Amino acid sequence: MSKKKILTTAAGIPVPDNQTSLTAGERGPTLMQDHYLLEKLAHFNRERIPERVVHAKAAGAHGTFTVTKDITMYTKAMLFSKVGKKTEMFGRFSTVAGEKGSADTVRDVRGFALKFYTEEGNWDMVGNNTPTFFIRDAVKFPDFIHTQKRDPSTNTKRDFAQWDFWSKVPESLHQVTILFSDRGIPKGIPFMNGYGSHTYSFINRKNERFWVKFHFKTKQGIECIPPGEADRIAGEDPDFHTRQLFDVINRGEFPKWTFYVQVMPEKEAEDYRWNPFDLTKVWPHGDYPLIEVGEMELNRNPENYFAEVEQSAFSPGNVVPGISFSPCKMLQARIFSYADASRYRLGVNFERLPINAPHAARVQNTYQRDGVMRFDDNGGPDPNYEPNSTGGPVADPAYAEPPLKISGDADRYEQKRGVDDDYVQPGNLYRLMSPQQQKELAENIAGSLWKVPKDLQEKMVEHFRRADEAYGDGVARKLGLI
Ligand code: NDP
Repeated sequence: MSKKKILTTAAGIPVPDNQTSLTAGERGPTLMQDHYLLEKLAHFNRERIPERVVHAKAAGAHGTFTVTKDITMYTKAMLFSKVGKKTEMFGRFSTVAGEKGSADTVRDVRGFALKFYTEEGNWDMVGNNTPTFFIRDAVKFPDFIHTQKRDPSTNTKRDFAQWDFWSKVPESLHQVTILFSDRGIPKGIPFMNGYGSHTYSFINRKNERFWVKFHFKTKQGIECIPPGEADRIAGEDPDFHTRQLFDVINRGEFPKWTFYVQVMPEKEAEDYRWNPFDLTKVWPHGDYPLIEVGEMELNRNPENYFAEVEQSAFSPGNVVPGISFSPCKMLQARIFSYADASRYRLGVNFERLPINAPHAARVQNTYQRDGVMRFDDNGGPDPNYEPNSTGGPVADPAYAEPPLKISGDADRYEQKRGVDDDYVQPGNLYRLMSPQQQKELAENIAGSLWKVPKDLQEKMVEHFRRADEAYGDGVARKLGLI
């Protein structure tokens, strides 16, 4: 017979009774010395950690990344060093605006955050299911997110705020067009693409820099849910996408994505017709075709949601040698914001939690010591300062990046290239849609815009018209404006 598992306190002390508390007589008050009861209640009160301000609702899964094509001419990153090479990874897939308990099948951008446990440390590819974003300057970010959240006076969601903001920030038109297209409500996580969205850089063994865009294209095919059906599912099963991902992996139907990159030689950025660091723009495939890199497969479910999904933390700052940043203003801000949010949410030692710690690299040779919840040997007797003469870790200049030439006056720049800069690409997207997709786009937009005052509807129709006459007319017709 197997030995009984004895219940203990957090300090490991056997508990004699987990059903009745210690009282002074059968009807008397509870005694302070029932420390087991006090510990149980106190811990329960602290079970929740701060919810993410954005991307609170998510599903996650472990997986494998396999290199299928050689891209070593562009990057020296070890994870891409050999065709056939496999790297353990973890993905977290979220909605943006809703709270932790909100419904999955809402119209929203989806987070597509990946952590690759490489032998040179963890690479976090913290993307979305859209190749662009609503804004290109992080100073607008808190304001934009406020429009997606609840009204501070009524605590209800409102359509006015987002359209008010979008009408005054035309750089958002491209992303608004994607959001209100059929892709705004994916059928599930396996049925959407992921994009790095920002421009990043690759650095090869010759220390040459290339600007890159990351694309993860679903091998299941893009599938979406019509709005009426999505509303029904949201009511019946708010966790529809989370459950679906868990179930398909449980059944062994592992979702897969092909990883592609677009590569721009460093010099070409100077004269390219789009600002290649503007997050509201794509690089048209005709200019920079997709280059296959590998395959990502999700093949293992988390065993504990809190430990693996809720405590997972991603930062665009986590790039490994051979992958680096670009001057994209939004990326620059996210390098700060993501780690900062994790320090607030999980504490300063969040990178030491098992889901976030390096797995393949197996080292965290820092001079960081102490801090809330430091639960390993805290560096033991090793030196906690540098330089030292006692064998502490040292920086290696072999990992230095080539210098990046920057010039110009320190000032505040809008980054606009001509008056139509914000309208051409949304128009291109509209024109590549099928007539059915164009019709649905107009219906989806009108389904939200009818709730705002007429002058705001007209302002938005003007923006849609500047992208494409037919786009504006389509929305105007649905709103009864023409
Ligand atoms: P291409 O014809 O070469 O590429 C079109 C892309 O549009 C394809 O990747 C396709 O994805 C995607 N697409 C189709 N329908 C939608 C939709 N409803 N929402 C979002 N994406 C969609 O043209 P360009 O490269 O010149 O791009 C034209 C427009 O396509 C851009 O302005 C942009 O809005 C959009 N787009 C471009 C991407 C890029 O990196 N160039 C990436 C994604 C979108 P799929 O093949 O999976 O169907």
